[in-house]
Amino acid sequence: MNQLKKILVLHTGGTISMSANASGDLQPNDENPLVADVDMEGMFHHQLQLITEEIFNLPSPHVTPERMLELRNRIVRAENDEGIDGVVITHGTDTLEETAYFLDLTLPNTIPVVVTGAMRGANEIGSDGLHNFQSAVWTANSDDARGKGVLVVMNDEVHTARFVTKTHTTNVATFRTPTFGPIGLISKQHVNFFQELIQQTVCDIDHVIGGVYLLKAFAGMDGDLFDAIDQPTTRGLVIEALGAGNLPPATLPALHRLLAHDIPVVLVSRCFNGIAEDVYDYEGGGVELKKMGVVFCRGLNGQKARIKLLVGLSNGMQGETLHHYVNNAFS
Ligand code: ASP
Repeated sequence: MNQLKKILVLHTGGTISMSANASGDLQPNDENPLVADVDMEGMFHHQLQLITEEIFNLPSPHVTPERMLELRNRIVRAENDEGIDGVVITHGTDTLEETAYFLDLTLPNTIPVVVTGAMRGANEIGSDGLHNFQSAVWTANSDDARGKGVLVVMNDEVHTARFVTKTHTTNVATFRTPTFGPIGLISKQHVNFFQELIQQTVCDIDHVIGGVYLLKAFAGMDGDLFDAIDQPTTRGLVIEALGAGNLPPATLPALHRLLAHDIPVVLVSRCFNGIAEDVYDYEGGGVELKKMGVVFCRGLNGQKARIKLLVGLSNGMQGETLHHYVNNAFS
């Protein structure tokens, strides 16, 4: 008989671990309902072995890059020393995409690592937590999930950590992959994949740096916010620029000052779909921004580009190496 696969489950908190109180407000529980109330062995028909840990119990707005690194280190240990075949992480949905992408950038792409969460608390009508958890475990148990990077499983869909984003405040179909779509679907009987992951470099880090910021451009923006973050402690900036990758001209003098202080400035679009490129040649247009030394990050949203910049800087990358690393989501 084949040995049962060992799936490590790491609970980190979020709505999937919360319940509604008498007024209907969602609150963290002392005891995770997924651990306390569910017959896990039965749920998976005794077809796999689950090892469950509550590594932390935080609403995801409390999750920091330090916590992401802690999670990454725990997974590396499990893979190297504990013979784990797959990992499932439950996480609050607010920053789930950032943690998932951090892990995607820093973990070797070997065993399946699947992140999931819920939009409704454990005791709410139509709660999606248990269902998403079950789908995530089946995905982590699937041989087809190997080599696809870190995956996000929610609402019967499989997404790449690299491109998925939270798109709705409360709807259970909140996680979407703009431009490209999900890479798989969970049907009643199978985890079905229909896309491959484009290759990606693994970045090894043993600490995370601070001082990496994210600003969103708007009509009439000037240089005040750029000047405010032009501090000796600032290590990098991501700007969600307008349209194809343009900024209001009044931002330019402050942007020049930031770049003169050797602060890497990375640009993505604030648009939901598409890729930022240097296509407009007018004052503040992408052509001028690129000539100034702004790095265009192709294909990531602002929060993901910030994680990538943070990981690259934490690895000690600088100059051309850093630019190349942050420039392209596809490699
Ligand atoms: N605010 C919650 C969190 O991210 C939302 C959720 O888990 O869905 O922790």
